[in-house]
Amino acid sequence: MNKATLAAALGAPSAFGQSQFAFMRGNSFEARVKADGGAELLRLVREKLDPTAQAPDEALVPDLAAVGPEGRAARTALALREATGARAWTLLDHPMLALDVAGSPTFLEPDAVVVHPDGSWTVVEIKSFPMLDGSADPAKVGAAARQSAVYVLALEEVAARVTPPAVVRHRVLLVCPKDFSNLPTASPVDVRKQRAVTRRQLARLTRIEEIADALPEGTCFAPDLPREELTAAVESVPATYAPECLAACELAFHCRDRSRAQGAVTSYGRSLRAELGGLATVDEVLAAAHGTAGDPDDPAVAALRRAARLRADALAGEAAVCR
Ligand code: SF4
Repeated sequence: MNKATLAAALGAPSAFGQSQFAFMRGNSFEARVKADGGAELLRLVREKLDPTAQAPDEALVPDLAAVGPEGRAARTALALREATGARAWTLLDHPMLALDVAGSPTFLEPDAVVVHPDGSWTVVEIKSFPMLDGSADPAKVGAAARQSAVYVLALEEVAARVTPPAVVRHRVLLVCPKDFSNLPTASPVDVRKQRAVTRRQLARLTRIEEIADALPEGTCFAPDLPREELTAAVESVPATYAPECLAACELAFHCRDRSRAQGAVTSYGRSLRAELGGLATVDEVLAAAHGTAGDPDDPAVAALRRAARLRADALAGEAAVCR
């Protein structure tokens, strides 16, 4: 299911996607990094991650073209096996990887994977945000690290099928424009932590069949359904919107509207939700604060009542001063 198409059909199109200018700038930077058979990119990989390896003068760049994502993933796996056996610098430009997510294959396309002469594999992520004096915006680097960690996990599934199993390096290479130029520079990023977190999250995901089994008979998410029908189908899947969704999910605007309409406190952030314990809606919070509902021994309820009393006292004091 394409969530961007679904969001548009629901009347809440996602705000994802770069401006045309940023997109073209990113593309032209990536083309520059990979020009001449990836000579500059491979030089950076060697310099930053494998300085004792031979120079990548005679690198291989296999053709990964195939029909459909499954075909491309199979072609990538074959190219990785061959490159590992060849023991030569090899650049896989936009390989296709498959990762099992909740029991369903998800296809992923890293910017590049490099096979080192020792047979190990490195994920390369090319970004268009600048690296100033060797460091970049930590939030953007963090997002790139989380993205690369997913690629590492997918690559490990392929590596496990190679005999003997290949090694996937847990330090990926982040390539960015140097300062405000169009010249590439790079920095290794250790993604062990992000990889472990992602692996735990993937293991905890409810399997798609279990979610599908719980849906009402005949539920369909076809984007050409009438909007009310489609909305009802989407609503039949439980969702817990939080502002963090805005940066990660195409359905965020739709879920935010629904969450606000229901008065769900998660729409104000997961940390607030955690502090409010069992109080899930704004109405419940207000009722607890005003003493018309809620267990007074509940620390969240007690804190809300104290806050309400303080507010009332402050307002009363303010009114007295005005008189
Ligand atoms: S709750 Fe968040 S992650 Fe789930 S579908 Fe809605 S926007 Fe996407």
